Amino acid sequence: MLLTFTADYVFPVSSPPIYKGVVIAEADGKIVDVLHPEKFSNENFSEDVKHHNHRGILCPGFINAHCHLELSHLKGKFEEGKSLPEFIGKMIKGREAENQVIMDAMITAEDTMLANGIVGVGDICNTTDSVPVKKKKRLRYHNFIELFDITPDQAEKEFEKGIALTEKFSGAGSTSLTPHAPYTVSAELLKKIYEYAYVRDSVLSIHNQETQSENEMFEKRSGSLFEKLSSFGTLYQNWKPTGFRSLASTLSHLPKCNKTLLVHNTYSTEEDINWAHLYSAVIYWCFCPNANLFIENKLPDFQIFIDHGSKILIGTDSYASNYFLSVLEELKTISKHDSKIKLETLLQWATLNGAEFFRWDKELGSFEKGKIPGIILISDVNTEKLRFTETSRAKRLL
Ligand SMILES: [Zn+2]
Repeated sequence: MLLTFTADYVFPVSSPPIYKGVVIAEADGKIVDVLHPEKFSNENFSEDVKHHNHRGILCPGFINAHCHLELSHLKGKFEEGKSLPEFIGKMIKGREAENQVIMDAMITAEDTMLANGIVGVGDICNTTDSVPVKKKKRLRYHNFIELFDITPDQAEKEFEKGIALTEKFSGAGSTSLTPHAPYTVSAELLKKIYEYAYVRDSVLSIHNQETQSENEMFEKRSGSLFEKLSSFGTLYQNWKPTGFRSLASTLSHLPKCNKTLLVHNTYSTEEDINWAHLYSAVIYWCFCPNANLFIENKLPDFQIFIDHGSKILIGTDSYASNYFLSVLEELKTISKHDSKIKLETLLQWATLNGAEFFRWDKELGSFEKGKIPGIILISDVNTEKLRFTETSRAKRLL
């Protein structure tokens, strides 16, 4: 039996939006066709037409490109609006909890993501905590096994730890080894990650320019981030600044031909974007605006990324720095801050761009024949101006 869905607008994402379009799918969610209303004949598909005409739009399932499922138990634990250095200090001391607490929180977080129309997740992993949840395959996961160690002679040990962790993720989604952030990895560790990623053509991710003092640290060996990191002991005693911004200092140690996801980019400038695009043609930029507001009360300058033709993805980050695990809530924040960005563009960031980055675009990311992308209804949209409203909400129909 075929199922048909219609709403005020259908956004296939791979093609322009269709006013009162119709999506036809098999019961398992496989897209059979997307039609303009005049081409749709009720006679052929009379059995089960689902109308969602109440200021609603239909779009494919969302890709949450940056999450830390294993930190879900930290919901409501940290104060907002402090700064990244403060946040890091709290995270180091505060992430421990009982196994059952961690497990229950991850299951609830996954339930929430499913309810919010998310179908795939790029998830940062420092532990094996999330493996049992992911093995149930309710969502598609790419696991970024995250490495960090600043001491050059510990690089081999940290790398081996990462390999061992990767093996534990068998059956829980795809994996790759990835660096945490410019300020927590040594050149030696980056070299190992480079070689491992290069031969496997694996995707990479790194937290980027989430605080202004990250740049100051690399340029001058000063600033609040450097001070915070130095306060934990002697680790940063021999750390040398490069004299360049943090992105240039780090990206040059990563392979040009591997897709690389730069996450946050709150303090990235036009110069940084130009530099990154000249360095590699497969740079992707992930925005997690609600986490940026939570941690630093600052948002990236979205327009400069658009002006430079950047490929943009959307992440929720973790419950440690967000009240929601909802891609739509991130889009609403961006739209509120920058009303010039079209709904169509926002939806592409949240669906097809992520599916392409993770190589899930044969099945996910757009309403195209043969894909199984999920069918999401976003209701309470301003369908005259094609903008989200404060009360816009997502629901998975199939
Ligand atoms: Zn993160």
